Amino acid sequence: MKHLELPREPLGFFPTPVHELANLGRALGGPRIFIKRDDQTGLAFGGNKTRKLEYIIGRALAQGADTLITAGAGQSNHCRQTAAAAASLNMACHLVLGGSAPETANGNLLLDQLLGAQIHWAGKHRKGEDIPKIEEELRKAGRQPFVVPYGGSNELGATGFVEALCELDSQTFELQTDFDHIVFASSSGGTQAGLMVGKKLLKKNYEITGIAIDKEGSAEKSLSELILDLANSTASYLETGFEVDKSDLILNEEYTGAGYGIIGEAEKEAIRLTAKHEGILLDPVYTGRAMAGLIGLIRQGRFKKDEAILFWHTGGAPALFASAEELQN
Ligand SMILES: *Cc1c(COP(=O)(O)O)cnc(C)c1O
Repeated sequence: MKHLELPREPLGFFPTPVHELANLGRALGGPRIFIKRDDQTGLAFGGNKTRKLEYIIGRALAQGADTLITAGAGQSNHCRQTAAAAASLNMACHLVLGGSAPETANGNLLLDQLLGAQIHWAGKHRKGEDIPKIEEELRKAGRQPFVVPYGGSNELGATGFVEALCELDSQTFELQTDFDHIVFASSSGGTQAGLMVGKKLLKKNYEITGIAIDKEGSAEKSLSELILDLANSTASYLETGFEVDKSDLILNEEYTGAGYGIIGEAEKEAIRLTAKHEGILLDPVYTGRAMAGLIGLIRQGRFKKDEAILFWHTGGAPALFASAEELQN
């Protein structure tokens, strides 16, 4: 398979664990729930971006880059993992963050600073609009910058999740459990696109359900269009010889609440239940919302009692500390 030939820089500890959430499953009275612990990838508090960055930075190093540039929100987990990867590889890191500098840096932003990243506040330019200017300045200063795409979501980033499904496949063999559904947070699309391609490559039957985190995709495309396009460009990049179809895409958009990063009662309940019953911390923006979606679907009777669900924990817990006020009892 082509993905095995791509340059891949080791940044995390894999495979990440898979285990059952028996207490939570019992408390919800639904199907068996398992969890894939990508919060444990090991890269400065971990997360799903570690898998993407192994391929993206593999390419950057092969091109001779000495500086990484990427963009995100002030509490971006992607930016924090990129900053950590850069530090470990002795590369410089420039982060272009939406909004303006808060009085006190907390959560991921505090970690970005500790990891030595240089931060550029971009105001309303939340999706990296200022990157070309910074890239040019760095080139003029004699650096070799490499732009990591928003959310790490291009063909290389998605390849990290094709590989992740191969990893899961060997684990399910050991666990002797075949999952019927995989549920996770979907936002810039790379995770879902990679999982969709991996499923088709491995000829698996599970349903892959992304819980949409944002109300909209980008200015030009809806999130489902973004995911489908990325899944197809990844399938073609990896020379799989197949295409994924619109009917392969399941994106649930019923749990976006009041919008990106706005914590509602459903997210609070999901975070508290998972913490209280399992001792596992979800995050307020992504996994809290995705678990709220899973809980909602269980309560709607969407799954059969004898099915097994895998919740893919994509990380993000450092953002809990930046939401301390909203999360108080
Ligand atoms: C980025 C992120 C996601 C979403 O992954 P995409 O590949 O961008 O869809 C989910 N959870 C966490 C914690 C993230 O940081």
